[in-house]
Amino acid sequence: MASDWREALMKKHKKLFFHKGNPTFIGGIACGEGWRPLIETLCEYIQFNIDNNDDMQGKIVRIKEKLAGLRFYYEDGSQRAYDAINFATALSYHICEMCGAWVDKSAHDPKAVWKLTLCKTCEAERVTAHVHKLMEVARRQKKKRKCGTP
Ligand SMILES: [Zn+2]
Repeated sequence: MASDWREALMKKHKKLFFHKGNPTFIGGIACGEGWRPLIETLCEYIQFNIDNNDDMQGKIVRIKEKLAGLRFYYEDGSQRAYDAINFATALSYHICEMCGAWVDKSAHDPKAVWKLTLCKTCEAERVTAHVHKLMEVARRQKKKRKCGTP
């Protein structure tokens, strides 16, 4: 199942996700698997600095995609952790959220911000899937009309 990597990640980083002072975690990681290495590396880096460099044990509140970028909501952490999160967010605008491929796009294109960050292949698959969905809806409506449903 596609959600397995998310569960595995949360289990691996219990201190970040289920820290005793973390009743605020809104379960789940709401983004595609393409960003998995980015999120995993971020969790490892943050926890390493907590365990070895006296950083404060912060807590992850939520991880999701918003306006084509990674949003990694983290509370009570160190400046080092927030710097790393900002860098990962900047990188996420260049990594396909579905497959992890590098995406060549201008981070400063205002139109690009409203779309998902996808490589050309994943974008094409998404468009194809969307067209199929529309065709299916049209087929069903046609069927309905034939049956005499208003
Ligand atoms: Zn892709």
